Amino acid sequence: MTDQRISKVTQDANMADYDTTRDSFHWEQAQALLDGLPDEHLNIAHEAIDRHVAAGHGDQLALRCIAKSGARTDYTYAELAHLTNRFANVLRARGIQQGDKVYGLLGRVPELYIAALGTLKAGCVFCPLFSAFGPEPIQARMQIGGANALITSTRLYKRKVTSIRASLDTLKEIFTIDGAVLDTTDLRPLMDSASDSFVTAATAPEDTALLHFTSGTTGKPKGVVHVHQAVVAHDTTGRLALDLRPGDIYWCTADPGWVTGTSYGIIAPLTNRATMIVDEAEFDVNRWYDILSGESVNVWYTAPTAIRMLMKAGADAIGVRAFPDLRFMASVGEPLNPEAVVWGNDTFGMPFHDNWWQTETGGIMIANYAAMDVKPGSMGKPLPGIEAGIVEVEGDEVTELTAPMAIGELALRPGWPSMMRDYLNEQARYEKCFKGGWYLSGDLAMRDADGYFWFVGRADDLIKSAGHLIGPFEVESALMEHDAVAEVGVIGLPDDTAGQIVKAYVALKPGHEPTEDLRLDLMGHARKRLGPAVAPKEIAFRQNLPKTRSGKIMRRLLKARELGLPEGDISTLESDEQ
Ligand code: ATP
Ligand code: MG
Repeated sequence: MTDQRISKVTQDANMADYDTTRDSFHWEQAQALLDGLPDEHLNIAHEAIDRHVAAGHGDQLALRCIAKSGARTDYTYAELAHLTNRFANVLRARGIQQGDKVYGLLGRVPELYIAALGTLKAGCVFCPLFSAFGPEPIQARMQIGGANALITSTRLYKRKVTSIRASLDTLKEIFTIDGAVLDTTDLRPLMDSASDSFVTAATAPEDTALLHFTSGTTGKPKGVVHVHQAVVAHDTTGRLALDLRPGDIYWCTADPGWVTGTSYGIIAPLTNRATMIVDEAEFDVNRWYDILSGESVNVWYTAPTAIRMLMKAGADAIGVRAFPDLRFMASVGEPLNPEAVVWGNDTFGMPFHDNWWQTETGGIMIANYAAMDVKPGSMGKPLPGIEAGIVEVEGDEVTELTAPMAIGELALRPGWPSMMRDYLNEQARYEKCFKGGWYLSGDLAMRDADGYFWFVGRADDLIKSAGHLIGPFEVESALMEHDAVAEVGVIGLPDDTAGQIVKAYVALKPGHEPTEDLRLDLMGHARKRLGPAVAPKEIAFRQNLPKTRSGKIMRRLLKARELGLPEGDISTLESDEQ
């Protein structure tokens, strides 16, 4: 934890003053900024696209897709309206009904975005899958959700679906975007001959719109159900937490296979009438700096792992590029070390704004805002309209801890528009999340006297050592301050005397060798920063740390491997051998 503050407030931010906005905020007013459909219906795709076309903004650029080759394809709001109408017509013509589940298994190509929004227009449920998944995770997710249609490519179909096809008995139609193969239907001629008008389905606000699987960081991924009403939160958080303005050039680096890539990689930027940049390629330092500067990005939403990789490459990698148009940078998905926030400020002239949310919350819940001082290492303050608390749970009793810096479970008062409506086929687990009038997040946090929230760790990751409660994040952040360190994962290992001891796994920056001297130096640094009770007792060097495909360090795997225990569900593990 640090007492440092970065006061770089944007003068003309959408939310000029946090407290004033919070005091007067009502979700009903936020909803009134949207169109809605007749008879109190609501549809995400209408709010994202057609509303803007009707208001005369059809010529504005909605989406710029950058292919791996670097080729750019642009779509205006009007073009996106027509293409999504065509896709909705194709679904109807092929017998896919309102309420049916349409899965996407594609890289970040234009068809994925058109299919997602066209599916919503047709009143179907969209479920994006990460294209790097193998056949088993795909099969499990399609079976849990009861997939009725799939949109994919011939290559992905042959490599990942044919071997499981026979087990997918709810699947009626497979669309392939680049030809037909085996039992698939070539989407292209259907799109060409479909009408580009479509009357958006009259979906009720509580109709299911999206099915998202969690990252699988702590165990088997859960299928989270979201409804059309969620668009009120997407729109509001895009405006208040990401400071999005009409016409902004906006880049969210997340893949729609994860909730960030849908809530903030499709919906929020479009409802806020921004221009979205979508890059098909994977992370690459030079490519990313080229996009940020070459596309004149105004608002950039990324993740700690990517930021740490940029830090590892060093500021020299920027070369002569400049970012005069960059106005706001935000991060989500994992705790953002204070070091990274400060690095952002030194390198781009503005801090990264950390924000916290989950697949279950559907949208940003706690954030650092454009017009508020940033305390590096803090997740910021609850969104207007959101009441967050630190609670202690004992049996059925939930007590709020109001003392500053008390560690407890981070909880939210239920009722915000993008709150999950179910864990698919896991009703009991869903109900367990709600207790004593709170939604329990499973994360531990603290709130300081100024109302800023600080992440401590996931409840499962908390370390109890010789009477101390130690959050891995605190230890990881202290080690990250060391010049040699690129990435750290910290876990607790069983110990006869202390209960648990702290062990850190460290990956080094280029140019540093994993020597005994360096290990001792890191130990010394950690002891000085954290005190001997909290500092790691053991440090091991690793080339890479095991991570989910969305870039989260899988501490449970570090632990299982150390203790020789079963690895559990590793369907979302990104290959970590090197
Ligand atoms: P699973 O629930 O399957 O184990 P997951 O929790 O990683 O996976 P997501 O819903 O993608 O799945 O991630 C939400 C979690 O990510 C949060 O509960 C929190 O632990 C972590 N997280 C997200 N943003 C932040 C942040 N800004 N600071 C700290 N942790 C964060
Ligand atoms: Mg989770």
